[in-house]
Amino acid sequence: MDRIVDQAWTLLLANVTNKRCILRPSMGSEIDLYVPQSRLLYLAESNPAMPRLLYLASQSAAQRNAYVIVRRLSMPADYFWKFEFWPKERAFATLDKIMTRVFSAIMSQAKQGTMKIEGVAVDPLRITVSFRDCVECAGITGLKNGICYYHAGTFSGIMSALINRDLDAFETACCAGGDGSCTFVIGDKNDQYVKTSHDAYVSPHKIGADLVARLEKSLSNAPVRALGNMVDINYLRLVVASTLLANPQLFASTSFDVGSQLGRKLAPVLTKFYGHDGLENIAAYYQQLHELNVEIKEQKPNLGLVISESPECSRNNAGMEMMSFLLGELQGLASGLTKTELTLRESRFEDDNLVVTFEPKV
Ligand SMILES: [Zn+2]
Repeated sequence: MDRIVDQAWTLLLANVTNKRCILRPSMGSEIDLYVPQSRLLYLAESNPAMPRLLYLASQSAAQRNAYVIVRRLSMPADYFWKFEFWPKERAFATLDKIMTRVFSAIMSQAKQGTMKIEGVAVDPLRITVSFRDCVECAGITGLKNGICYYHAGTFSGIMSALINRDLDAFETACCAGGDGSCTFVIGDKNDQYVKTSHDAYVSPHKIGADLVARLEKSLSNAPVRALGNMVDINYLRLVVASTLLANPQLFASTSFDVGSQLGRKLAPVLTKFYGHDGLENIAAYYQQLHELNVEIKEQKPNLGLVISESPECSRNNAGMEMMSFLLGELQGLASGLTKTELTLRESRFEDDNLVVTFEPKV
């Protein structure tokens, strides 16, 4: 999983340095942001530990990769030496310069959102970051808490690497709660205020996002943010790998079950949206979200599908764990659309394709 994460970071960096490589010949390098969003939210909804796990996974990946990037930029390791004694203005200007040039550039290029350092206080340390058009919450409305755990982890991980201190973050504003942009506060991990706020932030009681309403926006091409509805597929990879990182086998099996429940829920939405039921809705749905191509090879009694251009799988990369949410979602969708209880019999890679067989449950 770490390898997948680091590879995605490298590819995102390559976008900025103009070494972009084409990963999917016909689908292109972007996907509807509903795809990563629904996975994160649905997993967080069904497992109360997920916000914290996701935060920790994205934090350690960001910290590790920020070190690598900073070294590659030949910034000296002690660049931020004695940061705590710096005057406020210098701290702000220096952090702002590096963030804008490197990390916000990576994120805006990937269409994750537009990041800006709003303020820095040195003692006690408080870095305030605003994030406009955040991919994690765009189009979600009516929530009480911030839900951008992946980015909270990413920002605190990058800052921790830059100034070489253990930091944590939490959101004080989020578009999902009706704010104009998401705002993150980052401070020392053992600062009591940061600790209390962060703990409360990563242990929400219930999230309660309406994913069906959210999907309808994407299907009808309603814009959910000024940056548009698409995001770089490497962001999806980072998100999927981060949800599995703590225990790939266990979380792959949870992701499968959660994906299957979501697929069940989506089947009637697709029937209503496309005006008919039947398996052809599956291909239309994944095409419309720029997620993947599905070809039906066999229909009865077993259902055989060939999946190509899926963003999670690329040559020499993903194991089957990365595909688990998608496989579950396909099982749920196919069962719902055919009104037969289907269960996964086999899934295997054939070249760059994923070949999947479902059979009726006995
Ligand atoms: Zn947010």
